[in-house]
Amino acid sequence: MPTVAATTLLDRAGPRRCDEAWLKAHAADPAARFLMLVDLKPVIISSPDRQISSLRWLSGADVASLGLPAGDVLFLGIGTEGVAHFALPITDHLARATPGALTYLRPAVDLRSLAMQGALTPEELSLAGQARALAQWHENARCCGRCGSTLLPKDGGWRKKCWGCGLDWFPRTDPVVIMLITDGERCILAHEHRYVDNMYSTLAGFLEPGEDIEHAVRREVLEETSIHVGRVVYHSSQPWPFPHSLMLGCVGYAETTEIHIDKNELKDARWFSREEARTMLERRHPDGLTAPASHAIANALITSFVERKLPG
Ligand SMILES: [Zn+2]
Repeated sequence: MPTVAATTLLDRAGPRRCDEAWLKAHAADPAARFLMLVDLKPVIISSPDRQISSLRWLSGADVASLGLPAGDVLFLGIGTEGVAHFALPITDHLARATPGALTYLRPAVDLRSLAMQGALTPEELSLAGQARALAQWHENARCCGRCGSTLLPKDGGWRKKCWGCGLDWFPRTDPVVIMLITDGERCILAHEHRYVDNMYSTLAGFLEPGEDIEHAVRREVLEETSIHVGRVVYHSSQPWPFPHSLMLGCVGYAETTEIHIDKNELKDARWFSREEARTMLERRHPDGLTAPASHAIANALITSFVERKLPG
């Protein structure tokens, strides 16, 4: 299964986190743990070859020693041992000006690289993804979209309230359908213009207002490949914090077979047999074609197809 998954050992304490005194008491607990995000990159502890690495959790005393200006402290949740976990996003510009940065704020590594390297456990990757998605929303949601006034963080960062008109804003999640299209024996994989050389993946696209998942799958596939899809079956989902999407993995059963691609969206799209898809997953395709790595839900969809384990 994908590694940036929904697995988290933290209790997000939804009903309690709106209590500021409760949050403050947890933040002041000497055992509380803080994850620094420098330009949205989590600070990690790592061996030079990055074979062994983990998130670097600071204590409140460590954070205080950095003398940072007050910023958004984002509540991630309570661990099984009762300890609160927080994320503290700062800019790289600020990190560079902070004495002690070399000790406490480095290395800060892009989460996508950490996922691709398999450098963190699924739980840590999931936590860092949660922190990154929330921090990205805070960075982008500074002013009220209705009246333009400043938004004030509430509920440990899980809500923002407009200072001007009082409107509540909540963290944004963008649903994306990602679908393996099959005719039973073959599947459609596509190469987008932005992909690295020779990588082919499942089709995907954002849901639009007023759509259900099945409609979005059929519409996206028709727009991008001219293939008509009949039955659509849910497979699995994956939070994808780049910046804050939720990938809804589906299988779509094709009713037509002739592909005509939308050249604005795709560079190529083809039917692949099970055996050919297997060689792409295993990096031994004769033409060097590859499929996404195991951190991505596309890999799980293609693997299910190859292993004849598709739902429905
Ligand atoms: Zn407002």
